[in-house]
Amino acid sequence: MKTILAIHTGGTISMSQNEKGEVVPNAENPIAKEATIINGQVNLITDELFNLPSPHVTPSVMLQIKQRIDRAVTEGVDGVVITHGTDTLEETAYFLDLTQTSDIPIVLTGAMRSSNEIGSDGLYNFQSAIMVAATPESQGKGALVVMNDEIHTARYVTKTHTTNVATFRTPTFGPIGVVAKGKAQYFQELIQQGTCDIDHVDDNVFLIKAYAGMDGTLFNAIATPETKGLVIEGLGAGNLPPATLPAIEKLLALRIPIVLVSRCYNGVAQDIYDYEGGGIELTKMGLILCQGLNGQKARIKLLVGLSGGLTGDRLKAFVSNAIS
Ligand code: ASP
Repeated sequence: MKTILAIHTGGTISMSQNEKGEVVPNAENPIAKEATIINGQVNLITDELFNLPSPHVTPSVMLQIKQRIDRAVTEGVDGVVITHGTDTLEETAYFLDLTQTSDIPIVLTGAMRSSNEIGSDGLYNFQSAIMVAATPESQGKGALVVMNDEIHTARYVTKTHTTNVATFRTPTFGPIGVVAKGKAQYFQELIQQGTCDIDHVDDNVFLIKAYAGMDGTLFNAIATPETKGLVIEGLGAGNLPPATLPAIEKLLALRIPIVLVSRCYNGVAQDIYDYEGGGIELTKMGLILCQGLNGQKARIKLLVGLSGGLTGDRLKAFVSNAIS
């Protein structure tokens, strides 16, 4: 029988609705003791590591979850399930994906409806995640996100709806598998990416979204030696308004690595356009493109690479997925 470790970290999945209809955290996690859902099929062990709404999750919390997983690997567990608030779930999932040191399944899940709401999805998602973690085919797939009967990769999944239970989607590429009647089935493979084991996190890595008529004000505000990196959600295929360029030059002169992604929901940022502020000029200036990640994922990747001590061409290769 497989041994699965469930790490609870908080979020709506562990919350309840009060008599005023407000969703509030509980002192005791209502799903942590629900052993019946596994029906004797796995040996489930539980660690209530955190009880945080996910907007309170920081890279340092993510690192502590990673370290708990590393410890579980040395203890011989076969898979790990992490329950997490959905707001930042994709960022923690990608952090764990990039920093993993083994190939055991790491499966994240959450809920859109708290534990005592009608149609609550928490217990069901938790059960699905446990079954996916116990499935042999889930091995070697990095961190996975299981919600609403779908299996998504940590790399490309994103929260797309504020309240709907079908909120987690993988734009452009789609989910890699489904869960039906407690069984996981896969349909796609991901190409490999480099991982980077880290023992601390360097933050001060920022994310700025571009808009029509943007100038250098926001970029100038972070042109300080404390800034370690920047991700820009650019326009369309990866372009910026010309009035941002002097401030971006200033950041590059401070040797701050800048990663460019698209603010579009679908597609991949590329160096296609050759005009002032177009992707061709931006990549010539030294901005790094990265393989279809959204802004928040690209920020996690840059932060992990920097925390792992990567600089220059090695950082560029890691972020742009040129190394595996
Ligand atoms: N705001 C909640 C959180 O992320 C939402 C959720 O868990 O679904 O903690």
